[in-house]
Amino acid sequence: MKIIVCIKQVPDTTEIKIDPETNRIIREGVEAIINPFDTYALEEALRLKEKYGGETIVLSMGPPQADSALREAISLGLEKAVLLSDRDFAGSDTLATSYTLGKAIEKIGFDIIICGKEAMDGSTGQIGPELAEILNIPHISYVSKIVEIKERKIKVERMMEDHYEVLETMLPALISVTKEINEPRLPSLRGRLRAKKEKITTWNLLDLEGEKKRFGADGSPTRVIKIFHTEIKKSGIILDGNVSETAEKLYEELKKQNIV
Ligand SMILES: Cc1cc2nc3c(=O)[nH]c(=O)nc-3n(C[C@H](O)[C@H](O)[C@H](O)COP(=O)(O)OP(=O)(O)OC[C@H]3O[C@@H](n4cnc5c(N)ncnc54)[C@H](O)[C@@H]3O)c2cc1C
Repeated sequence: MKIIVCIKQVPDTTEIKIDPETNRIIREGVEAIINPFDTYALEEALRLKEKYGGETIVLSMGPPQADSALREAISLGLEKAVLLSDRDFAGSDTLATSYTLGKAIEKIGFDIIICGKEAMDGSTGQIGPELAEILNIPHISYVSKIVEIKERKIKVERMMEDHYEVLETMLPALISVTKEINEPRLPSLRGRLRAKKEKITTWNLLDLEGEKKRFGADGSPTRVIKIFHTEIKKSGIILDGNVSETAEKLYEELKKQNIV
């Protein structure tokens, strides 16, 4: 079984800064980490390999610095790493990113693709579903448990807001996982040493057999018109009086705000 995990390197901060000129995330000068949701995807791939056997491959599209994220994945126990890096990939929106990842995945071959629920910086949660559409395979998002893989079928629990669903689909398939799925392991010393020496395969546009116009800015129909910070104004109201008086005042206040 060939398991591919897609990981994104993201800025290690919760305060994402946007360049007002280009409307793009400022990544320079900010420490980079593996997108936290993707660490659960990596762990799940390792658990699947331990249970069912197979091969694990980690894939990322990004600048040459994303090499360090892939080495970290290797240190955890992933076997192979592929970096998709090329100036011609710059300016990719989610569609062009999914197309590029899809072309690489077709080249590698796969049975299961695992993505994180969303990236901490872009946070669209679009890559997993788009990738599955591009590859023409089924996908299940918000997976919080893999129940079993049997006879080329995968059965999972999917976490919804107030209930769980149990779903089954044929392989090959793509799943995106939530943080409830497992507890990621830490790298071993042996893993760290292997990661230092490991050769990371790097592919550019010419290595992927795709249509040039579907990569990078040319393949990106999204136009960001404006990005702005929303100001959250919070003001409290203190209601005084005894219990029935405050309950009455609270009801009136909620009615005034069209809540009841
Ligand atoms: C017009 C436009 C131009 C842009 N230009 C650039 C640019 O020049 N450089 C740039 O870095 N970003 C650029 N972006 C942002 C880029 O499109 C997104 O970061 C990317 O498509 C992933 O979207 P997301 O962050 O919402 O990921 P989500 O869809 O939230 O991620 C879900 C999951 O998909 C997987 N995933 C996401 N991204 C990757 C990846 N790169 N490699 C492997 N797996 C991944 C991970 O498993 C992740 O958990 C641009 C966006 C727009 C709209």
